[in-house]
Amino acid sequence: MAPREPRRVKPDWDNPQTMLSVDEARARILSAFTPLPPVTLPLLDALGLVLVEDIQSPVDIPPFRNSAMDGYALRSRETAQATPGSPLTLQVRGEIAAGHAPPSDLAPGTAMRIMTGAPLPHGADAVIRFEEVVESGTSRKGPDRTLSEPRVGLSRAVRTSENVREAGEDVVAGSTVARAGTVISPMQIGLLAAIGRTTVNVVRRPVVAIVSTGDEVVEAGLELGPAQIRNSNGPMLAAMARQFGGEPRQLGIASDSEEAIRGRLSASGEVDLLVTSGGVSVGDFDVVKQVLQCDGRIDLWQVRMKPGKPLAFGSLGDTPLLGLPGNPAAAAVAFSQFGRPAIRTMLGLSQMAPHTERARLGVDIENRGNRRHFVRGVIDIEQGERVVRPAGGGRSGALTGLAAANCFIILSEECDRAHAGDIVDVELFEDANLGSPS
Ligand code: AMP
Ligand code: MG
Repeated sequence: MAPREPRRVKPDWDNPQTMLSVDEARARILSAFTPLPPVTLPLLDALGLVLVEDIQSPVDIPPFRNSAMDGYALRSRETAQATPGSPLTLQVRGEIAAGHAPPSDLAPGTAMRIMTGAPLPHGADAVIRFEEVVESGTSRKGPDRTLSEPRVGLSRAVRTSENVREAGEDVVAGSTVARAGTVISPMQIGLLAAIGRTTVNVVRRPVVAIVSTGDEVVEAGLELGPAQIRNSNGPMLAAMARQFGGEPRQLGIASDSEEAIRGRLSASGEVDLLVTSGGVSVGDFDVVKQVLQCDGRIDLWQVRMKPGKPLAFGSLGDTPLLGLPGNPAAAAVAFSQFGRPAIRTMLGLSQMAPHTERARLGVDIENRGNRRHFVRGVIDIEQGERVVRPAGGGRSGALTGLAAANCFIILSEECDRAHAGDIVDVELFEDANLGSPS
């Protein structure tokens, strides 16, 4: 293939007007997003999504009065005089398993065996645990049932309602069990299941389409030419999009031609966010911007950050487009700073600026150039304290440091050197599993 004539487009982001701080760039991007409309989803699919309805329970929980323990159901007032010196003996009549109705009402002067969760027989108002009674007479489980009438001996008074769960004790029918705006947790799914819900109305997940650009980029499974590399950004960004709560759609690779990029983008269908990697820097063949300048709207910015300085944001038709740099580390940092909050806004979630925590720096790090520096870092707990060090692979293209990292160490624009022993800001990755400092 003959080399193309390089384009000599003067990038409009040479203009200092388009130099933005990370926070300014994020604010501009987020102004283009609002929460998506609700959908009705099966309970399990609503995990992590924002509820858009108040939910009232149509039933009491528990729905009926039941035993909190395995033991004997009885009338508490009959036990008032029982002491170790003068134990009370009750005849045992019948047994109630969980999921079954009592065989009869509780006759005065008797107790009934009852299992946890089984309904209390009419007449009973308390349960004493098996461990606290002395059983005598027929063993109910044994083959020989010809012995005398079974009995239990109690050596203490049992309080009214002891070991009894009242109907509606947990949830009263008609009360609100979850409010609009709640982020659905696994335990809330349990509560909603308990009141009989099978579906809920939640903000829908945004569909995030990802296009990787570059003549040199080749999909897995295809043969790699002499000057080519694998597409690592596509799968990485798709995985990040999923982790941030989006529904990724990988649209494959576009070569560095306007036709190819136009073709890939137009094949995206109905999506909520288009993400491209590559083709937004000053390189002569960076054609994402040409396509968007013709077919949509595009702003090209230099963001005062490292890595990830060149960033494009615009739209194709009504669909917002985030143009990330091609360098894998730069793409990862920029997607975490700008793509994540965009996805969270569409999900109706708060906390737009990534959550930072503090850790002690293990080594010196330089930060020249007045940019916010996102250093791939590894946090460990050392002597009860969080200590963070660079994950290696200093160049912005290095994949191993990125893959080893569990956080970004953040050095501010004003900080030109951080020293070993300094306390620094770190942004933990969502799956960073550190345990807590002891
Ligand atoms: P660009 O932003 O297009 O100038 O690309 C910057 C660097 O990132 C170049 O070394 C590209 O080869 C590399 N790169 C671009 N796209 C990808 C990709 N999808 N996967 C891995 N590396 C990429
Ligand atoms: Mg490129």
